[in-house]
Amino acid sequence: MPPRSPKTEPRRMKVRVIGTVQGVGFRPFVYRLATGLGLAGSVRNAGSGVEIEVQGMPDVLDRFVDRLRQDAPPLARIRQVAARHAKPVAEDGFRIEMTDEDGELEVDAARDIATCTDCLAEMRDPADRRYRHPFINCTNCGPRYTIIERLPYDRPDTSMRAFPMCEACRAEYEDPADRRFHAQPVCCHDCGPTLELLDAEGQRVDSPDPLAATADILAEGGVAAIKGIGGFHLACDATSPDAVRRLRERKHREQKPLAVMARDPDAARAIATVGPEELALLESPERPIVLLSRRAGDIVADAVAPRSQFHGVMLPYTPIHHLLAERLPYLVMTSANRTEEPIARTNDDAVSKLAGIADAFLVHDRAILTRNDDSVVRRLAGDVMVVRRSRGYAPEPIAVGADVDGILACGPMLKNTVAVGRGELCYLSQHIGDLANPATVRSLEATAAKLAGMVGVEPRLVACDRHPDYLSTRFAESLGLPLVRVPHHHAHVAACMGEHELTGQVIGVAFDGTGYGDDGHTWGSEVLIADRAESERFAHLAYMPMPGGDAAVRHPGRMALGALFPIIGADARRAVPWMDEAEADAVLELLDRGVNTPLTCGMGRLFDAAAAVLGVCRETAYEGQPAIKLEGIADPTAEGSYPIELSESGGVRQIDGATILAAVCDERDAGVPAPTIAGRFHSTVLGFLLECVTEAARHTGLDRVCLTGGCFQNAFLLEQAVARLEAEGLSVFRHRLVPPNDGGVALGQIVIAAAKRRE
Ligand code: ZN
Ligand code: ZN
Ligand code: FE
Repeated sequence: MPPRSPKTEPRRMKVRVIGTVQGVGFRPFVYRLATGLGLAGSVRNAGSGVEIEVQGMPDVLDRFVDRLRQDAPPLARIRQVAARHAKPVAEDGFRIEMTDEDGELEVDAARDIATCTDCLAEMRDPADRRYRHPFINCTNCGPRYTIIERLPYDRPDTSMRAFPMCEACRAEYEDPADRRFHAQPVCCHDCGPTLELLDAEGQRVDSPDPLAATADILAEGGVAAIKGIGGFHLACDATSPDAVRRLRERKHREQKPLAVMARDPDAARAIATVGPEELALLESPERPIVLLSRRAGDIVADAVAPRSQFHGVMLPYTPIHHLLAERLPYLVMTSANRTEEPIARTNDDAVSKLAGIADAFLVHDRAILTRNDDSVVRRLAGDVMVVRRSRGYAPEPIAVGADVDGILACGPMLKNTVAVGRGELCYLSQHIGDLANPATVRSLEATAAKLAGMVGVEPRLVACDRHPDYLSTRFAESLGLPLVRVPHHHAHVAACMGEHELTGQVIGVAFDGTGYGDDGHTWGSEVLIADRAESERFAHLAYMPMPGGDAAVRHPGRMALGALFPIIGADARRAVPWMDEAEADAVLELLDRGVNTPLTCGMGRLFDAAAAVLGVCRETAYEGQPAIKLEGIADPTAEGSYPIELSESGGVRQIDGATILAAVCDERDAGVPAPTIAGRFHSTVLGFLLECVTEAARHTGLDRVCLTGGCFQNAFLLEQAVARLEAEGLSVFRHRLVPPNDGGVALGQIVIAAAKRRE
């Protein structure tokens, strides 16, 4: 290092900033920061970062470096700032130097971001040339992933190619100091997309103000399909019971809670409890749906979230949303799709698929090239939990601490996402959904191809689930590349290891509903000893017959019969006295003959059965509903739990779920209140977990535990498990970047395939 100059003389520094700093307005930010402090020098893009040369008084330079981190633009992710001294030169002013790579956008920054406060202020300023412009955006906000066809990110490679910039917009776009410098979707009233209103038949309605006309329809109780960032929403006035009922009837969605878009944080606070952490999530640039505890007697119609203690709330994230919210402080905003199908993306798609559902369509001529559903998050046990990782988050990469280059993971069957590896980074796709039909499979194929293209990786190795019949497995096989078939629950554990960059062995607890097991049965209550390459079963629930296979998932009462039949035979009938006589007889007959009764040890199924015995859920309308209901009524202060019967064969421990259920039955018949029983049931599952994990720790000497699988979306289970395992001196790892449910499985598949490849 050169000798320091005295504090009264100018110094010069070279500063290198590494991370996601290109395509996020970083250079204009550096320019404004440096000129504001009166510093001379320059900034330019270089490699995977920016290089800054800056000259001025020592104390001012220190302030400059501090504020580089503190005041960085919202979308920048700074991984490292390295500063070194250089020889001062004669220089005046600060400038942005152009390089060949300019305008290129790293895929890391290609997220869809909510309208920023600067743009909102302009949109609301009558003197601004973009006053009330429904497509206002800048370098810090607006769509990216959903409008990009391919990288490098240039206007001709986005769906903005149809809109040549006017002179005023071009001047902003080309000015390195402007906050719209190289913002590809930049536009205005003169040159941008335009809104249009279509009637229920998809015919254009002549309207001077389509937005106001849509607001009228909503205010009168109508249902409108509204084109958003990653697809269409179906919207209605959330405070109108009639409107919400109409939307539910037409969409054939009777029970699953609907998301609410609240005008602003105050509106959100009026219907739900919003702590500082929840507020930060609501207002984050990703703008996810945040699950919040609802306030009793709130203004929102009961039918929005029937018998639920939660509201899924989001704040407006596009200019169109903000403009609509001026008139309607609470809108139901639910993905516009028919059950099982992907969200509607094109105008024609929306009109044909939503015929009979929407009274009107608010559309525009900026195409959505990639579907992207709303993300869902919540605060749980003192941290954030991502329930669905999609718009706003995807495709930001996750560092997994291993070389995953060139690997494509095709994900599981439900809540499918795919992932592509480059270097040590894993690019997890947006939510694709349940692979139930050809349309979702096409969506999977398109997403895999596009993501690999954007990341700039030609897949050389493919990872998929071990289940031979998953449509994602079939897709993986069709690629004709070397294939790694990954056990489902090992993938859950490896996803948790990956996001925490853990290596070596851990104790993995994977509790979920369904996953293909090595013995051909359905697994899902797994305590595993695992590293990144291999996993070994340590404990699980004993197998239970599932009468009628998947029908037992839709009808949890059947699961109760299936679980109890092996120990009490036809007496199992008493578990579900509410069940139709003929149905119960048919189910018992199946069990008796052992026909169509596949075996499962899914923890989700035990929750289903317990919910059925307590009568809190007789039909499952959406995945996980019985468990959500059971948790909803559980009294966390209920003392006691039910006895756990543990057996062992071949070194693997098995816990008998049937005796737990029998105890639930007995208590119910003895008149113990359902909330007490539900509380004790949860404590029993916790007891199972605690006992198996501590024994695994004794057995192996391991002290790190990964909690994963959809069951850990249960707050009761997660909070207690973390507290009690930590009290045992164990280090507990849980998901915070990817969902614990199957939405995170592709990440684990990549981690395992990489470890296998290295071997
Ligand atoms: Zn903006
Ligand atoms: Zn313009
Ligand atoms: Fe799973």
